[in-house]
Amino acid sequence: MIGKPLTVSSRLNAYEALLRRLPSHHPTYTTIEKAYTLPLAGYRGEKEVYYRLKNLSDNFIIFHDLRLPHQDSFFQIDFLVLSKSCIFVIEVKNMRGTLFFDTHFKQLIRTVEEKEEGFRNPLAQVQEHKWKLSEWFSKVLNISSVPIESFVAIANSSSVLKTNAADLEIYQRVVHAEYLIDHLNDWNTYYLEKNFGFLDVDQITKELLDADTPFQPDLLKRYGIKAGELRNGVVCPHCNAASMKRTHGKWLCWQCNKYSKGGAEQAIGDYLQLIASSISNQECRSYLGIESPQLAKRILHSADVVGDGATKNRRYRVFDRIN
Ligand SMILES: [Zn+2]
Repeated sequence: MIGKPLTVSSRLNAYEALLRRLPSHHPTYTTIEKAYTLPLAGYRGEKEVYYRLKNLSDNFIIFHDLRLPHQDSFFQIDFLVLSKSCIFVIEVKNMRGTLFFDTHFKQLIRTVEEKEEGFRNPLAQVQEHKWKLSEWFSKVLNISSVPIESFVAIANSSSVLKTNAADLEIYQRVVHAEYLIDHLNDWNTYYLEKNFGFLDVDQITKELLDADTPFQPDLLKRYGIKAGELRNGVVCPHCNAASMKRTHGKWLCWQCNKYSKGGAEQAIGDYLQLIASSISNQECRSYLGIESPQLAKRILHSADVVGDGATKNRRYRVFDRIN
């Protein structure tokens, strides 16, 4: 069963919006293009793991991308899988090449075409998520000693795994995505047989979804880009020119002469993702280069936004930004 379905992360959405809006000659363009590959690979890896997890029986509830509060901050879990007897925390890594888990230096070393690169040990990361989650359970649900098992799922089936670990634990914790559900089923049976008692999965599901606080990255601030440097208007899905004009009830590209649908709604999404958390009818007209307040209203209504305030001063924002 699905508790929270797979969605494209707001980080990936924000990078895609920025690459659409930033002129290709902008000095930060190549930096952003390079940075974009990380959330993209992350999402592809999570997609792979999600399709595997969906093969689990209905005794398991799958949550993708939960961001839960811990002290003054948050921690983000790629996948949480809940059953009546235990909980699984899964960190996904989508890396090609040879992955060497160095347990002495607590590092992950990736080798691709003889080039070595060091990363934080994902086992340490997932272990940290495990104890933070355990604290969250005791604080929010008043459940202490909830059985939590953690995994690092390797999404890329051709990556080679190596380690210098002396103990066997790493072989149970770091698994290729295709074998992940076997491990989950084994642990679930183990806890069922131990008969520790049952978890209230309905209540836990509700509390997890209530506490989940999606992350909203501010890429303009991060890369020192001003809103005025971005391209306004509707971007053509065929030639990427920001030169679409409203003609006879349709959007026509003046560059390549093709029509498109949905570009205006996407433009509103880009605005809310990058420039401001809300938009007025007037700001929408000036941003899209249209004159009719009725047309702006129609576009805003068909975009995935919600309006606040009286008609005259109404501002529109994304549903998710309520929290
Ligand atoms: Zn075009």
